[in-house]
Amino acid sequence: MKKVLVAGANGQIGKHLVRLLQESEQFEAKAMIRDKTQASFFENLGAGVAVADLEDEIDVLAALMDDVDAVVFAAGSGPHTGKDKTIMIDLDGAVKMMEAAKQKGVSRFALISSFDTRRGSWGSEDFRPYAACKFYADEWLRSSGLEYTIIHPGRLTNDEGTGKVNAGGEIPRDEVPREDVAKVIVETLNSPHLVNKEFQVTKGESPVMEALKMV
Ligand code: NAP
Repeated sequence: MKKVLVAGANGQIGKHLVRLLQESEQFEAKAMIRDKTQASFFENLGAGVAVADLEDEIDVLAALMDDVDAVVFAAGSGPHTGKDKTIMIDLDGAVKMMEAAKQKGVSRFALISSFDTRRGSWGSEDFRPYAACKFYADEWLRSSGLEYTIIHPGRLTNDEGTGKVNAGGEIPRDEVPREDVAKVIVETLNSPHLVNKEFQVTKGESPVMEALKMV
C-alpha cells in the first residue's frame, strides 16, 4: 500500500479523493487538515490524519511526510479570501509542500492547478492574481526535480461523478464534477506514464483510465 498525503483533504475534491484512495487496493490516504474537529470524517474512512496549516514552515510540513510515498496538493484559499491568502496558500503553500517533499525524498507529487495557466490566458483583472499564483506554482513544480503531474481541471461542479472525462494537452473548456477529478487523481498516481506530464480535464465520454491513456 502506498500512502498519499492529501493537502486540502477537507476540501470538496479532497474528501472525494480520500474516500477513493481508501477504497482503492493500491493506496491509503493521510488527510492533512488544519482543524482537529475535521478529523472524524477521515477516521471513519480509516484514513490517517495530520493536523497542520499550509502557512506553517517547511519543516513542519516535512514532518508530515516521514511515512508517505506521494503528495497531492488539492488545497486552495478559495474565492472568499483576500488575494493575500491566495498568495500564501495557492502559491507559497504549494511551493512549501514541494520543498518539504524534496527534503523528505518523497518524489511523487500531483498538483491541482487551474484549467489554463499559460500567460495570456489569465482572464479578468480580478482572476489574474489567482491565475498568476497557479502559473508560478506550476512552474516551480516543473523544475523541482520531483516526479510531478499537473492536473488542469475545467470549472468544478458538485454533480455526481460519471467516471467519464475528456483529458488532453489542450481540450475545449468545459466543466467537470469534483468527484471525477478525484478519480483522475487516483488513476494518475497509478500511471507511471503520467510522471512529468500535465493535462487538462473536463467532463467527457471516455472512462477515466482510457482517457488518461491518451494523454
Ligand atoms: P475547496 O473545497 O475550497 O477546498 C480547499 C481546501 O484547502 C479546504 O479543505 C481548505 O481547508 C484547504 N485550505 C485552505 N487554506 C488552508 C491552509 N492554510 N492550510 C491547510 N489547508 C487549507 O477546493 P475545491 O473546490 O476542492 O478545489 C480544489 C482546487 O481546485 C483548488 O486549488 C482550486 O483552486 C482548484 N480549481 C478550482 C476550479 C473551480 O472551478 N473552482 C477550477 C479548477 C481548479 P478548510 O476545509 O479547513 O477550509
